[in-house]
Amino acid sequence: MIRSGLCFFIFVMFSSLAAEQTRLPLNDYFAETWNTRSGLPHNSINSVAQTNDGYVWIATWEGLARFNGREFKLFTRSEITGLPDSGLRSLAPQADGSLYISGARGGVGHLKERQWIAQNDASAMVNYILKTRTGEMWLALEGEGVTYREFDNGPEHQVLVNLSAYRLVEDDNGLIWAATSDGLYRIENKIAQLVTANSGLPNNSIYSLLLTKQGQLIVAGEKGAWRLVGDMFESIHQLDGESISSLLQDDHDDIWFGTINKGLFRLSEIGLEQLDAEAGLPANRILSLMQDREKSIWVGTNGGVYRLREAPFSSWTKKRGLNGDYVRSVLSRADGSMWVGSSLGLNRIINDKVELIKPAFDQDPLSILSLAEDNQGNVWVGTYTSGLMRVIDKKIYPVINRDNGLLSNEVRALLFDNEQRLWVGSAAGLTRIDADGSLTQFTTKQGLPGDFIMALALDSHGNIWVGTGVGVAMFNSALGEFKGQAFPKQFNAKYAFGFYAQQGFMWMTTDRGLIRFNVITGDIAMLGREQGLPVDKLFQLVAQSDLFWLSSNRGIIQVKQQQVNDFLDDPINTRGQKLQYQLYDEGDGMLSAQANGGSNPAATLHNDGSIWFATSQGASTVIPERIKKTTQISLPTVIENLYVDGKNTPLLYDEEVLFLPPSTSRLSFHYAGLSFIMPQRLNFQTKLLGYNNEWVNRQRLTITEYTNLAPGKYTFMVRAGYPNSPWQDNYKTVNFVIQSYFWQKTSFKLVMFFSLLVLAYGVYQYRLYHYKNIEKQLTIRVEQQTRDLQQQTDAFAHQATHDQLTDLPNRRAFDSWLADNFTDFKQQALPLAIAIMDIDHFKRINDGWSHIIGDRVICVVAHLLSQCGENNASLVARWGGEEFTLLFPNKTAQQAAQLCEELRQEIANYDFSNIASGLTVTVSFGVADSLTVNDYDRLLAQADQALYKAKSNGRNRVEVTSAETFTVG
Ligand code: GH3
Ligand code: MG
Ligand code: MG
Repeated sequence: MIRSGLCFFIFVMFSSLAAEQTRLPLNDYFAETWNTRSGLPHNSINSVAQTNDGYVWIATWEGLARFNGREFKLFTRSEITGLPDSGLRSLAPQADGSLYISGARGGVGHLKERQWIAQNDASAMVNYILKTRTGEMWLALEGEGVTYREFDNGPEHQVLVNLSAYRLVEDDNGLIWAATSDGLYRIENKIAQLVTANSGLPNNSIYSLLLTKQGQLIVAGEKGAWRLVGDMFESIHQLDGESISSLLQDDHDDIWFGTINKGLFRLSEIGLEQLDAEAGLPANRILSLMQDREKSIWVGTNGGVYRLREAPFSSWTKKRGLNGDYVRSVLSRADGSMWVGSSLGLNRIINDKVELIKPAFDQDPLSILSLAEDNQGNVWVGTYTSGLMRVIDKKIYPVINRDNGLLSNEVRALLFDNEQRLWVGSAAGLTRIDADGSLTQFTTKQGLPGDFIMALALDSHGNIWVGTGVGVAMFNSALGEFKGQAFPKQFNAKYAFGFYAQQGFMWMTTDRGLIRFNVITGDIAMLGREQGLPVDKLFQLVAQSDLFWLSSNRGIIQVKQQQVNDFLDDPINTRGQKLQYQLYDEGDGMLSAQANGGSNPAATLHNDGSIWFATSQGASTVIPERIKKTTQISLPTVIENLYVDGKNTPLLYDEEVLFLPPSTSRLSFHYAGLSFIMPQRLNFQTKLLGYNNEWVNRQRLTITEYTNLAPGKYTFMVRAGYPNSPWQDNYKTVNFVIQSYFWQKTSFKLVMFFSLLVLAYGVYQYRLYHYKNIEKQLTIRVEQQTRDLQQQTDAFAHQATHDQLTDLPNRRAFDSWLADNFTDFKQQALPLAIAIMDIDHFKRINDGWSHIIGDRVICVVAHLLSQCGENNASLVARWGGEEFTLLFPNKTAQQAAQLCEELRQEIANYDFSNIASGLTVTVSFGVADSLTVNDYDRLLAQADQALYKAKSNGRNRVEVTSAETFTVG
């Protein structure tokens, strides 16, 4: 015990310098348990080990479980090649990162670089595997002694027989020690020798062995534990008679003992401590012990695996000596002591020891609300029901209460101002006690927004800030009066629980968030739930290095000061930032996440760098340094699975390239950071070279998916990081190629490109030809239509000027010709003769034969007339009915009459019998010319007159209207 004594001395010397070095009492570790309900295959934890890659492995009777901090992956007989049984007894991690496992039915396995290498079975259950420095494999067997193989899968040689061997250890001299049912064996050059009672060991079974980092052998068994000193085994007397199954030396060099039925012991400078089922251990039977790289202690019991860790937070409670667990105020004093006020009294913690500060007169426990220290170092105490008190010589004396001047006995806040006047905030107003003892009262009447005072603070200008249940007020020291500082309406904040003064700013913790008030400009801004805070109600702010720590009902929130200021400076959050915070609660060592507020100080920074919070389950303290230290521990990243289109695809090693089919559409990478302290809080970043070359924040997501990646070569990278700490150089990669379909290859694309080019030219040419053709057809069609139109127009024009029955010009054409030309003839003094012809007794023809015959007669007559017209360059027109007109340009009436006479005779002689038998047709003419008339109307009238004369003179004759009438017939 001399060594221990020395260490204890050193421990005491350094403990005040480096608080984080402090050993936590065994009962104050933060403990967690995993069992079959959490995914373990069996509750008997035969062995726990950590491999170099960071995984924690757990051996049970129902197989091996690999733990990544979040979930267990199971390996049973089917996953482990060559194992005769899933029941595992021991694990032996190797320096090369590989892992030997052994168990029931003589099973031995070796996991190396994700491959299971089959090993020959031993003759009985293998309790332990030892790989020696020279590469020999030694096996401790149940009932079958000890054997060894010179190399893996080599022939097996027997060293010890007919006993059960439990543990093997090779010491620095190459000696092998075997813990067996017969006792301890020392094996030198393959020859075993029992260590007898002469060496100080009893004749009982030895279960466990430990070679310390200092090279000392520790032996434990059925009846205690011993250490080898020189040639002799010295009993570790504290453990006399205990049945010890497992041993562990931790990073403090403390020794842990797992017992068969009494739980766990730790022997350290503190002394021997015990932790058993009553204190939370899942079972008192310990089967295995292990410390991981994050310094947590893993305890394998027959009721699950139990893990002890030094959590960021630890708590001072009744169990550690406080009067009460319901802590309302914590006061850090310059002398290094911490004062804790609870509902059951006041305690002072100094050098990790708790002292009781008793009331001087009262026997009943005092309910403490608030604390303050004056410039002489005296502690003043605000109570729930007894007004203001103070501490003198570790006793609490009354100072003032409602009976002699206070407004209420409920004193929630205390403050000494720059003139050492004491401000006492109570549930019914504020009282100022001046140095001479005089009292000044402030209530709503003096300008306070409310009388329920919860917080008091001093700003850099010496002003007093008062937090009430309905906003804050500021007492202007220079003016000696209160100035209202109501919260802006939109903040909707009422309660001001605490203040924190910081160069030019007054920070306020309220029931709607954190308010920053600029003392110089008067600008006010709030950070609340809308900006991403997880709670509305904040009790107390503590600033520490670049962080803010905020206490709340749901735990302690840690945010970067810079980010809070960024948010407050840019309320619209133009940069679209997300508030990054850490919320510490029960998982981080707090016994209750519920911090207390409404009296002061509810949280404080201590002069050893720790931060203290008043909570409903003790005073919780965090050493930020300890969190930082954890985050400096190397954090392995592992890529656990790759799913290609939903199918788990085996991962290859480092530089190797995974070839994926062209049809690949969805890649899903599953990864983990192997931290067992804060697995839920780890952050991840990923990068996919070939797609983007920037790290992408994945926050706490442990899966990253990519869909529809183009064919090509990629490298997926992922790294895990502790929150609020720089990224470590711990990334892992997967190289892969998404192959292309033949049509996605460049050569094919080139051929396709040129083919397309040629095709496009062909199509262009074809279209050109096609368009030309269409144009041609269109032109023809247009021409045809134009022609048709013209024909139609012509036809219409013809129709308009010609008679349908005879096709002779009609009366309209005749009239217009006459109108157009009559004047010309007159002016040129040329004769123009006109004749009107009427068929004689045509009614009779119609009546005698038929109308159709009549029509035919008209046509024949027209024909005969038009022939004459052609011959004599005269114009013939159908005048209407059976009347025709004939124009004789350049002819006198006499000349025209002569021609008419020839016509008359031709018609009269014409044989109409082919139209109707017995039909004869005669016609009469009236002729006139232009020489004796001045307009064409008159000319027509004269011709008509002449015709009338011809009719009345007996028909079938030609009459001329002139002086000399030419009459034929
Ligand atoms: P007149 O010798 O006095 O001329 O005796 P008319 O019977 O010819 O008497 P009028 O000239 O007064 O009668 C003409 C008749 O011709 C009247 C009408 O019925 C008939 N007519 C007129 N136009 C046509 C026609 O286009 N076709 C037929 N078939 N008959 C017509
Ligand atoms: Mg007539
Ligand atoms: Mg007639």
